[in-house]
Amino acid sequence: MERAPIRKGPFPGNIEPNLQDYAKVRAEFSWEAIRGELDGLPDNMGLNMAHEAVDRHATGPRAQKAAMRWLGKDGTVLSLSYCQLMEMSNRFANALRELGVAKGKRVFVLTGRIPPLYITALGTLKHLSVFCPLFSAFGPEPIYQRLARGDAKVLVTTEPLYGQKVAGLRTRLPGLKHILLTDAGDHTGSGVWSLEKLMCAVSPQYTIPPTDPEDMAILHFTSGTTGMPKGAVHVHDAVCTHYMTGKYVLDLHPDDVFWCTADPGWVTGTSYGIIAPLVCGVTSVVDESDFEPERWYRILEAEKVSVLYTAPTAIRRLMRMDMEPRRKVGLDQLRLIHSVGEPLNPEAVLWGQRVLGLPIHDNWWQTETGGIMIANFPSVDIRPGSMGLPVPGIEAAVAHRPDADTLVLIEAPNVQGELVLKVGWPSMFRGYLHEKERYRKCFAGGWYVTGDLVRRDEDGYFWFVGRADDVIKTSGQLVGPFEVERVLMEHPAVVEAAVIGKPHPMFGEVVKGFICLKTGIEPSDALRLEILGFARKRLGAVVAPKELQFHHNLPKNKAGKIMRRLLKAREMGLPEGDTSTLEGRE
Ligand code: AMP
Repeated sequence: MERAPIRKGPFPGNIEPNLQDYAKVRAEFSWEAIRGELDGLPDNMGLNMAHEAVDRHATGPRAQKAAMRWLGKDGTVLSLSYCQLMEMSNRFANALRELGVAKGKRVFVLTGRIPPLYITALGTLKHLSVFCPLFSAFGPEPIYQRLARGDAKVLVTTEPLYGQKVAGLRTRLPGLKHILLTDAGDHTGSGVWSLEKLMCAVSPQYTIPPTDPEDMAILHFTSGTTGMPKGAVHVHDAVCTHYMTGKYVLDLHPDDVFWCTADPGWVTGTSYGIIAPLVCGVTSVVDESDFEPERWYRILEAEKVSVLYTAPTAIRRLMRMDMEPRRKVGLDQLRLIHSVGEPLNPEAVLWGQRVLGLPIHDNWWQTETGGIMIANFPSVDIRPGSMGLPVPGIEAAVAHRPDADTLVLIEAPNVQGELVLKVGWPSMFRGYLHEKERYRKCFAGGWYVTGDLVRRDEDGYFWFVGRADDVIKTSGQLVGPFEVERVLMEHPAVVEAAVIGKPHPMFGEVVKGFICLKTGIEPSDALRLEILGFARKRLGAVVAPKELQFHHNLPKNKAGKIMRRLLKAREMGLPEGDTSTLEGRE
């Protein structure tokens, strides 16, 4: 059942959105004009992400403005101005130079969300080395895989993480020359350095070398929710997408306090947890702690967060608690909430409206696209459950791919097919490191094929159906898991759902659902039958789940995405494959 659209305006705080007329902005849009809104390096020396993020503000009227508000686990709060961030990242860039780290060399970070992570990112970009973030919760094996595949030269980490997870890998990583410890007082030899000491010994001045917008900037490993890690290569030009989407989708205004809750180990935490807010010149909040509802509400209030960017998992965990925070804490300054990473069910969008006083704006993108591609905009009506409309500068379509090199675009509305994007936007990945053929296979006829199934309605809104490889074939019919999941989540007892195809001798596959219940609701056979009946009534007998299993938590990767592949492997008694990114596993 489709929900009524949420009409837009008047806008919270009476702040007019940067994008007021979607059709007009799209029609008049050019990436050249966006580049023109950025600075570029002095004397036409190119385009550097870190210059756009920090230096251009640090040498202008925003110099003393808080660029970052870092909230430590222990209650420490550290405010860094644009000017301070410039000096610290300059020192880091100089430290790399002192160590002889050249352009294009890979600088990995394994620290958790602490200030050196952000300084490393910006300093590395200034020095034209390549920033490669890792989740600090990874265990030694996924760390090894990524350091090895990414040709790591430098690793920035902490003493405990080094001791527990990396020291034992070093003989297998001969190319890893330098370990920079964020919390060590002194250098200890064997290429193990105190980052602080290195940074104190060098100048806070640094001139960014000429930067070709096509120079490699960031390497993001993605295992998606399906296979082994791939290293997606991004270039400095991606900053144009970060800036444009920061402006038009996140709707950042100069006085905004922005909080992206994602860890930079996941692409969202880098594109929107580091680069976009700084490029847009706002104050960016970084919380070192992991998700905890009470803490989150406290931060929103204390930091006066005005724009929040988070993920469906977190939103559903807040829903699970069924709190009514707007009555308990002052969230008056909060004016926009965005979500990414997984399908956002209509109930979640409406929950935001009801409980927080603001609908949740879903948007879609992936590691390979480098930035937001499809979005719900502050000025455009929301259709709950839809990912929204393509962002300016992006042409998105629905297609069939009968063979590897052929793509047939589907013009008719509401037909399911693969989401494809016209090649050529600045943050498009430029390769999978060392995997040319795999990269080539992602393209056909001038389009990038995303691997997601969608449909587009008659007004151009995109609706997520599922990952192409998660689609279920039951009784000859194709079923997108999300179609079923969103209905399960409409049941008042259900807060999270995942659906897989379970092999069946007669039907090919049958739909099996896994659900988490709201806090305080106990699983029972009666409830199972009730939910099965509820789904059957809405979806019909073929599409509705035949089996339903209660779970306390669904398996998720470290970015919070449900691992359907794992549920399926477990269901079939097959090997679980790569589980190195599974949440809660070392
Ligand atoms: P990653 O590259 O790890 O960020 O994963 C990208 C994938 O997450 C996409 O290809 C989608 O399958 C899924 N995804 C991201 N955002 C959304 C969204 N708003 N709705 C549905 N799926 C999403």
